[in-house]
Amino acid sequence: MRFLQDLTYEEVEKTVLDCGMPKYRAGQLFSWITRGAKYGEMSNIPQSLKDFLVSQGYNDEPVRIIRTLESKLDGTVKFLYALQDNNVIEGVLMKYKYGNTLCVSTQVGCRMNCAFCASGLDGLVRNLASGEILGQIIAVNGTYGAGTVGNVVLMGSGEPLDNYDNTVKFLTNVSDPRGLNISKRGVSLSTCGLCDKMRLLCDQGYTPTLTVSLHAPNDEIRKKIMPIAVRYSVSEVVDAAKYYFNVTGRRVIFEYSLIKGVNDSMDCAKELARLIKGFPCHVNLIALNSVKERGLAGTLKEQVEQFRACLEKLNVSVTLRRSMGADIDGACGQLRRKFIKAGGGE
Ligand code: SAH
Repeated sequence: MRFLQDLTYEEVEKTVLDCGMPKYRAGQLFSWITRGAKYGEMSNIPQSLKDFLVSQGYNDEPVRIIRTLESKLDGTVKFLYALQDNNVIEGVLMKYKYGNTLCVSTQVGCRMNCAFCASGLDGLVRNLASGEILGQIIAVNGTYGAGTVGNVVLMGSGEPLDNYDNTVKFLTNVSDPRGLNISKRGVSLSTCGLCDKMRLLCDQGYTPTLTVSLHAPNDEIRKKIMPIAVRYSVSEVVDAAKYYFNVTGRRVIFEYSLIKGVNDSMDCAKELARLIKGFPCHVNLIALNSVKERGLAGTLKEQVEQFRACLEKLNVSVTLRRSMGADIDGACGQLRRKFIKAGGGE
């Protein structure tokens, strides 16, 4: 299925010109699309242009919010969205002092099957179209007001670089100054470490903040928790991150979720520090959010703190992330699963 929100500004312009209309119509149409308007609401767009778009199969509502849950602890809001084919995805709006960040999905399900993650439990269902990725932001702005979403992290369900073409089209659209105009620095892409695609991304001129889910300091441990580690070694992942830094000048962030008894020893901390020594990067620690079906537990608070202190002592730039929305099914993919298992229904 195709969506109006798939279209880049240039594609809108081409469509307008193909219909024999003046160029300024492109600005009007793109602005409506960016605000999530339905065909019926586009009051200054000629009916013939709308008819043409409909005849080309462009749907005007890729994503619809069907459920909203607000955390009483920290104001975090979790959304369930329905897609046109009745698949369901989820997202999270996190409120920080410096603005709101929306966590966005790039696939329905995921085929990476990391041992701790809820998103991969049923494998990959399908890729999201770029308009369905963008549509999540537009739907939230539509409910909470234009400009609500200031920053975006591609950390919802799915592996963005496994849906490369739609993800980069999304990156182009989300930062278009004529559209949502979210700064490139305000967009983070998180990957489990698809090295070839990490290199391709910067070679093609895309410069989101790159977050790499490392979760282990060596291949032995990484292979136990991330099947992708069989394809790419830890040193290949770090090399690709260095390449990204050299090409873009953007500091890469390594995600490290601490799993009790798996990757949380002080030896792991020291090995991690050795691995990234001399590379100007940053490490984000978080205690694993336990997913019932996965049978792994998060490291206890005290040891998390020791792990952090150990890295800091070894001159690693490190922060401990708070787990947000703990009372509303914080961990990736959990809310969606609960909804589907309960038989869906709105
Ligand atoms: N496919 C992308 C995005 C995944 S979700 C990636 O692998 O980076 C974003 C982050 O949450 C990743 O670092 C992922 O490994 C992590 N994550 C997934 N499930 C988690 C859980 N239950 N607890 C803590 N972190 C989790």
